[in-house]
Amino acid sequence: MEMSRKDRILEYFGLKRDNDYIKGYFLSSNMRSAIYMSIIVIVLEIWMIQSMTERLMKRGVPLLDGMDYFSWYFSLLGVGVVMLIMAIQYLRGKFKNRLVLQGWLWVFSVLALAFGIYFGYGAYKQDKQALSFPTMVIFILCLLVWKPLVSMILSCLSFGIFYYVCDMYYFDEAGEQIRASQSFQVNLLTLFISTFAVAIALFHQRQNEAKKDEALELVNAHLREIAVSDELTLISNMRGLKEASANLPAGQLVHYFNLENYKAYNAKYGFEAGDGLLKKFAAGLAQIFVDNPCARISDDHFVAICDPESSGRRIAEAGELLKSLQGEVSLELKTGLYRMEYPDESIDLCCDKARLAANSIKKMFDKSVCEYDHDLEYSFNRRQYVINSIDKAVSGGYIKVFYQPVINAKTGELCGMEALARWDDPEYGMLAPNQFIGTLEEYRLIHKLDQQIIELVCRDIHDLGDDPLSRIPVSINFSQLDFELYDVPAVLLEKAGKYGIPINMLDVEITESALNGDADGLIKTMEILRGNGFSQWLDDFGSGYSSLNVLVDYNFDVLKIDMVFLRRFYTNEKSKFLIKSIVEMAKNLGMVTLTEGVETEEMASFLKEIGCDKLQGYYFSKPVPHEEIIGMIAEGKLKLPAIGQ
Ligand code: C2E
Ligand code: MG
Ligand code: MG
Repeated sequence: MEMSRKDRILEYFGLKRDNDYIKGYFLSSNMRSAIYMSIIVIVLEIWMIQSMTERLMKRGVPLLDGMDYFSWYFSLLGVGVVMLIMAIQYLRGKFKNRLVLQGWLWVFSVLALAFGIYFGYGAYKQDKQALSFPTMVIFILCLLVWKPLVSMILSCLSFGIFYYVCDMYYFDEAGEQIRASQSFQVNLLTLFISTFAVAIALFHQRQNEAKKDEALELVNAHLREIAVSDELTLISNMRGLKEASANLPAGQLVHYFNLENYKAYNAKYGFEAGDGLLKKFAAGLAQIFVDNPCARISDDHFVAICDPESSGRRIAEAGELLKSLQGEVSLELKTGLYRMEYPDESIDLCCDKARLAANSIKKMFDKSVCEYDHDLEYSFNRRQYVINSIDKAVSGGYIKVFYQPVINAKTGELCGMEALARWDDPEYGMLAPNQFIGTLEEYRLIHKLDQQIIELVCRDIHDLGDDPLSRIPVSINFSQLDFELYDVPAVLLEKAGKYGIPINMLDVEITESALNGDADGLIKTMEILRGNGFSQWLDDFGSGYSSLNVLVDYNFDVLKIDMVFLRRFYTNEKSKFLIKSIVEMAKNLGMVTLTEGVETEEMASFLKEIGCDKLQGYYFSKPVPHEEIIGMIAEGKLKLPAIGQ
């Protein structure tokens, strides 16, 4: 901030009110000087007292005759001792009363100056060198830092008084007054100017140091602050949470809050309003958990820790808070709880466990709180295992591809296969995608799996050689993160090239929820895929939160209608109507349609009737290993299209 001219002048003369930091800086620098000064004063005075006593005793004069001097020595000694104790206590952080400290510094300084004047004048009277005065002046005005105005007052007063007494009260033996000589006047004036100049220079130097120090402190404090607080909501982040939760006793409850349906809120009101909601929720949550660790961990995920007794009340308040902010979108607060088993338990793991509990009740409309238990412990361990073992699973061949046939609705022939990942683990047995895909996505490891699936699919097609099955295209699932973590088109081209697979044999499935992320990036990658001849399928249409706009914004070749629509096939007539409308709409937009989850003949014939092009579901086959597909073809359970079709 620019200072006005008036402010700058005021500051130059030390007339501007200093902030607390600068005041503290001056005080502590003066206290440090005061320590040395008082030690010197104490030693000096003890020495004076001792030599005075010796002198008087040698002369056989009663000690009381030296009372004048002794009272000076003892006063300065006493004030020095108190000053020393105070300064030490201040620097140790034990005594902080600024007024008392400053007051005592004044007592010390004024007494020292008066001492200098008194003894300087005494020496001057005896025609000796008046050294005590300059010594004390330098001592007080140059070792301590005063504001310019104070320096001026102090030095004018002390020099003035000293000059006055020397000039007025110096008499010769005949009682004649001896006025100060010109050389004395010149010397005193020179000393006055130089000590005053040093005092001012010192003040400005110290003031600059203080300002630099203050700026540095501010920057440091800011850096500390941003390292531990969340940029958007300004409450703690994970690091802040860790700091705040160090040394917590066992038995504390870790709460993991998830704002279910938050994506829908963003979709309806836009990202800015979504951010606004997070900010308000965060501020409210921090109030509900006031004096307890509370943080935003990521997106719409928050963690707070408190004792079990107050947990229920706080969860209820947080739920009400969310309801008051939700607008027209129904937001659900899902809370996962984990009870810390021992003091200082790793907060990362505690949060992971509480999160697992929160995730376990996702989309369960009748449950909003879940505490971590042994079943969850099992899946937690499996999750940790997945995270730690993905590399081993890839290199050790645990990752397998199962294929699920896609049937041409008109001809009933096999027209495609979906590649679905399986993790055949030596310890956990066969894991289904829902036991590892989400975890790998959460930990940004999904690319390791998906790249291996591309490799295995290409290898499987290659291994078929001339078998007619090698002409059936395979669709591969991609997560949103794949498009962030690696160059999908490049890897597809590389693997296809490696195994000599034609591009039209590989279809790219992108799930609807992936379209919520970086739209521009994804659209660009999709263009590259299209340019290279890959067909693109929109997976799980209707399961997520995206609107019909995605069909216009993105250029998909095939629309996979999610199986949620067929789930209500027998119970809700409307579902049929819905599927029919979607199929018609997709056709109008020039897309091929595929319905997932076909489980009965009735469903299949309905879909054929309404003009759905492709069908997939347990009615035809579950996902199976490649050899089983070959076996089903051999047995006539699956029909291959005639060559040339
Ligand atoms: P998806 O792509 O929608 O795959 C269809 C899922 O529905 C498969 O589950 C399949 O077994 C199941 N399904 C097929 N027909 C029926 C049916 O008639 N009834 C019922 N109830 N279910 C049926 P799966 O194999 O467990 O895969 C689940 C999800 O995991 C997939 O959904 C896909 O999103 C994801 N996924 C699978 N493999 C991969 C992969 O290699 N990479 C990525 N990124 N995701 C994958
Ligand atoms: Mg799929
Ligand atoms: Mg699907």
